[in-house]
Amino acid sequence: MTKMNDLIARVFRQEVLAMSAYHVADAEDLIKLDAMENPYEWPEDVKTHWLETLRACPLNRYPDPGARRLAATIKQMNGLDQDAALLLGNGSDEIIQLLLMALPQGSPVLSPEPGFVMYKQLSHCLGLNYIGIPLQEEDFALDLPAMLTAIERHQPKLIFLAYPNNPTGNLFNQDAIGAIIEQAPGLVVIDEAYEPFADASYLEMLGRHPNLLVMRTVSKLGLAGLRLGYLCGSPELIEQLDKIRLPYNINVLTQASAEFALNHKALFDQQTRLIRAERARVFAELNAIGGITAYPSSANFILFRTPSGRANAIFAALKQMGVLIKNLSPQGGILVDCLRVTIGKPDENEAFLSALKQSLISHP
Ligand SMILES: *Cc1c(COP(=O)(O)O)cnc(C)c1O
Repeated sequence: MTKMNDLIARVFRQEVLAMSAYHVADAEDLIKLDAMENPYEWPEDVKTHWLETLRACPLNRYPDPGARRLAATIKQMNGLDQDAALLLGNGSDEIIQLLLMALPQGSPVLSPEPGFVMYKQLSHCLGLNYIGIPLQEEDFALDLPAMLTAIERHQPKLIFLAYPNNPTGNLFNQDAIGAIIEQAPGLVVIDEAYEPFADASYLEMLGRHPNLLVMRTVSKLGLAGLRLGYLCGSPELIEQLDKIRLPYNINVLTQASAEFALNHKALFDQQTRLIRAERARVFAELNAIGGITAYPSSANFILFRTPSGRANAIFAALKQMGVLIKNLSPQGGILVDCLRVTIGKPDENEAFLSALKQSLISHP
């Protein structure tokens, strides 16, 4: 074993040795409300039609490296010009990785915290200097003076702003975002993973700021299994990033399936409406429970605060009762006592709410 340890220490980068693996909870036999997935599947006739599309996919051939048909569909769906620049990734996670890989070694990367964990995780892995700036405690708003001071001091090459933010669910103030884009000496990536639930976007601002990039994914919309994200921005920036993209990063099945799915956008719009309606209901019901404070959300999840010191026990009790949500309390800081629930189908949400009430009674 020591021989193996010596080998590992000799071979791998210090950053890798220091990392811990991204943990994904086992959800078998549980009501899965932990990962911001769309709970709805497709109607049978749509599935049949989709499978017919896949039958025509040549698995013996490499995929179209530019995924041109899919890219055209994405542009059309988002009202982008057909000659707009687009970078596709194997999930937006891959795009985050790509952006970070393009930076000089040790570059400063800035993001508000709590934020999406991949910004920090991938920055550390690549030996970059990740700087997290705390959000305001009461409402998770950007601390603009702190952000601007950090920008001045660290001169970050890249700033990530999730809009709406994960795990807090709120949209940051647009004036604050504007000031950050103006002051940033490098790139600002607006991560719009939850755009289907938000009615707000920076896509239309792209022409106005050369350093602005907008990133999206089909995951939260209802296609998490496909692994497809995309980045929009100025062609000159996209051209540089495209150099380090692996040529066949979007496989044929994803290309065909995503194109098929996005041509059935009405299906997702309907599901999104259901999820939003449920979000409003769950939010109201959560806040009606004594001791629980739910935070307003523009995403498909809700962050809520439990009575002091009880988040871990409540999380465990819910799991015991068959409902898996996300425990953020161990992350500390302003997330102490916080749990996050993804909006599911009405009966799943009902099971969650009743299990939560139960857990508050049985573990006073
Ligand atoms: C889920 C999520 C992503 C990752 O999306 P994938 O396309 O599934 O990799 C990116 N950013 C934020 C803020 C997210 O919550």
